[in-house]
Amino acid sequence: MTIREKSAVAYLFEPTPRPAVPVAGSDKLFPVHRIYCVGRNYADHAIEMGHDPNRELPFFFQKSPDCLVLNESDFPYPTRSDDVHHEIELVVALGKGGADIPVERALDHVFGYAVGLDMTRRDLQGEAKKQGRPWEVGKSFEASAPCSAIVPASRIGHPAKGAIWLNVNGTQKQSGDIDQLIWKVPEIISYLSGLFTLQAGDLIFTGTPAGVGPVARGDKLHGGVDGIAEIRTRVV
Ligand code: MN
Repeated sequence: MTIREKSAVAYLFEPTPRPAVPVAGSDKLFPVHRIYCVGRNYADHAIEMGHDPNRELPFFFQKSPDCLVLNESDFPYPTRSDDVHHEIELVVALGKGGADIPVERALDHVFGYAVGLDMTRRDLQGEAKKQGRPWEVGKSFEASAPCSAIVPASRIGHPAKGAIWLNVNGTQKQSGDIDQLIWKVPEIISYLSGLFTLQAGDLIFTGTPAGVGPVARGDKLHGGVDGIAEIRTRVV
């Protein structure tokens, strides 16, 4: 019996509410199951982080769904770090789960798209890398996943190109195009579904283009993927 099957019994205390993201043009919320993130998925970012963009299979980490922060909400500067970085990313929202999903069928599983920020305690991530430890403390901390409303694919299709950008206090820091993704959305879904059983409600942060850098309290972040969505947050 899995934990899920057993959950019909009374809870000892009220469970925390399920994290959810608004759906553009709807008053319904998208209930979030897991957040998967792809590492180094744009060549120019892989190079800026000191890696060879041509040699690696995709790799993943997760953020806890309760790290989500909605668009226009503040991003509280996290504890224990002096080097918190912005990473603007295209986010894929799955409306249908599955395992071993073939690349050709992968887009059938997509409900829609959003734009998100994979906020990163770079100093703690760097220390973890050096010591061969997990990345959690660098990646999965409070408010580390600001995310826009999800725009249904029924409205915008499955965009394969479009500028991805991030401005800090009105100055452009990151720019690229989602057609530069090393591993494309269908390939990411297919590969990921061989490692995990995907579920409706999963979000996938697909990686960031070059130009990542530190944020400070008071900074205003404004990013987007043209044709999909924009996101704004203020570091407090
Ligand atoms: Mn990232």
